[in-house]
Amino acid sequence: MASTHQVSEQTRRFLAARRGLLIDGRWQDARAKAQTAWSLDPATGKPLAELTVAGPEDVEAAVAAARHSFESRRWLRLAPAARERSLWRIAELIEQHAQMLAELETLDGGKLFAGALHGDVAFAADVFRYHAGWCTKLEGRQLEVQSGDMRFHCHMVREPVGVAALIIPWNGPLAMSAWKLAPALAAGCSVIIKPSELACLSVLKLGELLLEAGVPDGVVNIIPGSGAAVGAQLAAHRAIDKISFTGSTATGRHIVRAAAGNLKKLTLELGGKSPAIVFADADLDLAAAGVAAGIFGGAGQVCVAGSRLYVQRAIYSEFLERLSAAARALRLGPGLDESSQIGPLISDSHRGGVSSLVTQGIQEGARLVTGGHAVEGAGFFFEPTILADATPGMTAVREEIFGPVLTAMPFETADEVIAAANDSEFGLAGSVWTRDLSTALDTTARIRAGLLWVNAHGVPHPAIPFGGYKQSGWGREQGRDAIDAFTELKSVMVRL
Ligand code: NAP
Ligand code: MG
Repeated sequence: MASTHQVSEQTRRFLAARRGLLIDGRWQDARAKAQTAWSLDPATGKPLAELTVAGPEDVEAAVAAARHSFESRRWLRLAPAARERSLWRIAELIEQHAQMLAELETLDGGKLFAGALHGDVAFAADVFRYHAGWCTKLEGRQLEVQSGDMRFHCHMVREPVGVAALIIPWNGPLAMSAWKLAPALAAGCSVIIKPSELACLSVLKLGELLLEAGVPDGVVNIIPGSGAAVGAQLAAHRAIDKISFTGSTATGRHIVRAAAGNLKKLTLELGGKSPAIVFADADLDLAAAGVAAGIFGGAGQVCVAGSRLYVQRAIYSEFLERLSAAARALRLGPGLDESSQIGPLISDSHRGGVSSLVTQGIQEGARLVTGGHAVEGAGFFFEPTILADATPGMTAVREEIFGPVLTAMPFETADEVIAAANDSEFGLAGSVWTRDLSTALDTTARIRAGLLWVNAHGVPHPAIPFGGYKQSGWGREQGRDAIDAFTELKSVMVRL
């Protein structure tokens, strides 16, 4: 018998007390007036916890605290090994509080509890451990050069970029904070994290753990608030050196414009419309399970979701039958219910947007194979949906839907499918399903996207650089490249 995960007493207490803003090492109320908002549980649509929301003066205070902690070298002057130990300690604390963090991620963002526990939370801990190692390994280079009759000994060193604002979306707040924060701390930066009001409780809990791990005051500040107010103020702020942003392509464009004032450095992880390409020789059991998980996992609210399916003609009908059987069998339900296989969308308005893109897809001629509707009753559930016989010009094929909606198209040749896969404004990720090594390598070589999997989809790793081609973003996160993104390179020429 499936059962319901019982929320711990610790988490209940956490939800019952309004969280403040983390500024300069202290939890504080908003400065102007008691600005608050309610976070909802998307599985019930009911209020979950009251949040303190930052106003303009709080943003100023958080930026000043970050700036001061950076200029005073409070974090940077610690020995690299001491900073490494702090990052390991954060990872340990995340694991010690894994149950609670997973409960918060489930209640606040609608994730499946097991997925949050073994996916998001475990990943967050791994990311801190991975980046901990960089603290002691940021070496420079050196060389001697000559200019006319002058000789120079030169060295090149990586220095922290300074104060960074980390702006994150609601679909995985803990994991996404971790993958920006860990390299920022390893590089020696001070930060302001702006999570989304729709889901930020796990980030606030992370803030408590950072203080417990001994991260000095002001090095990490956490200020929930709206994108239009708090996010925009950070993006335009002259005392901020860098923005690392994850969110939609439309918001990414706003940030580029706002950041132009002081030409702050930008890393942008934006939207996607990632292809999953299934060749006729693929292991069809593996491919069907992987493609289904790649689009229905997280109810499709995943940036790398494999939302455009291309299947070689010979197996198109058979493969679609398998997939639609798998989609129909998925049990929708709250993430705390252990039998649930797909959770809710984040909000009613987001569900409305998903629903209208599906309707538009059908109006433009796609064939609805399964799903297609919002589920009546409590919570923001939407059926896993497959739109077959889609064509390249359809809105549902071109736009990111960010829901459990797959468009499927047949193809004949590799050339044809590569052209179709590349016919997109986005270039974030994709997958190729085949048993043939040459097909796999030829296809991945010709697809313009930042992260491609062969015979898998949507598996992140802290050591593997991640980011988009085209309008899916600028720069890379994860791996050594994440450290580069939070540092500047300084060259020193010493005349001999
Ligand atoms: P979003 O609306 O762009 O919001 C992302 C973050 O930016 C939120 O914290 C938001 O605050 C804030 N924001 C909104 N307007 C802003 C502005 N003018 N200036 C500064 N910040 C602003 O994206 P979303 O709908 O929450 O998230 C889904 C999107 O994220 C999808 O497009 C998805 O593909 C993308 N995503 C990308 C990746 C990746 O790594 N490439 C990963 C996950 C998600 P509010 O929430 O308070 O408005
Ligand atoms: Mg919520």
